[in-house]
Amino acid sequence: MSFTLAIVGRPNVGKSTLFNRLVGKKLALVDDQPGVTRDLREGEARLADLRFTVIDTAGLEDATDDSLQGRMRRLTERAVEMADICLFMIDARAGVTPLDEMFAEILRKKSANVILAANKGEGAAADAGVIEAYNLGLGEPIRLSAEHGEGLNDLYTQLMPLA
Ligand code: GDP
Ligand code: MG
Repeated sequence: MSFTLAIVGRPNVGKSTLFNRLVGKKLALVDDQPGVTRDLREGEARLADLRFTVIDTAGLEDATDDSLQGRMRRLTERAVEMADICLFMIDARAGVTPLDEMFAEILRKKSANVILAANKGEGAAADAGVIEAYNLGLGEPIRLSAEHGEGLNDLYTQLMPLA
């Protein structure tokens, strides 16, 4: 059985980096600068023996503060509707922000399968943020480093029973 995984979360947490790693091609743009990626991007992912469709949510990087929350909400709701499973990503180095809280609220309301990932998890600078992530009420966070490819075994372990 194949499934669709949507990667959601505020800009700059590392969604496209994980998307690229799962898809293995540079289909999603990754950039340090805001304003690069747009809307929703779909690719065929591989993780060990799992094959699935992955959706990268973008299109938020160029939003002004005023429009960001509304756009984020609409885009996330679209992605959640398309997906069987949502991977909600936060930046463990930054800790939980008010925008992260807003996402968590959307995802708690949708009764979708949610996997919580605390990304940029390499190194001690992420320790506090990983602990904070427990407070989001979305279960135990996976400590990920999308850039360094760490924590993918834990992602696999959480995806397996849902696949
Ligand atoms: P997106 O806006 O959520 O799609 O985030 P991007 O994938 O574009 O990444 C934003 C920035 O975070 C880029 O500079 C990435 O190189 C960086 N980044 C992504 N994953 C990691 C990670 O695991 N660790 C660290 N230190 N940086 C990361
Ligand atoms: Mg992106």
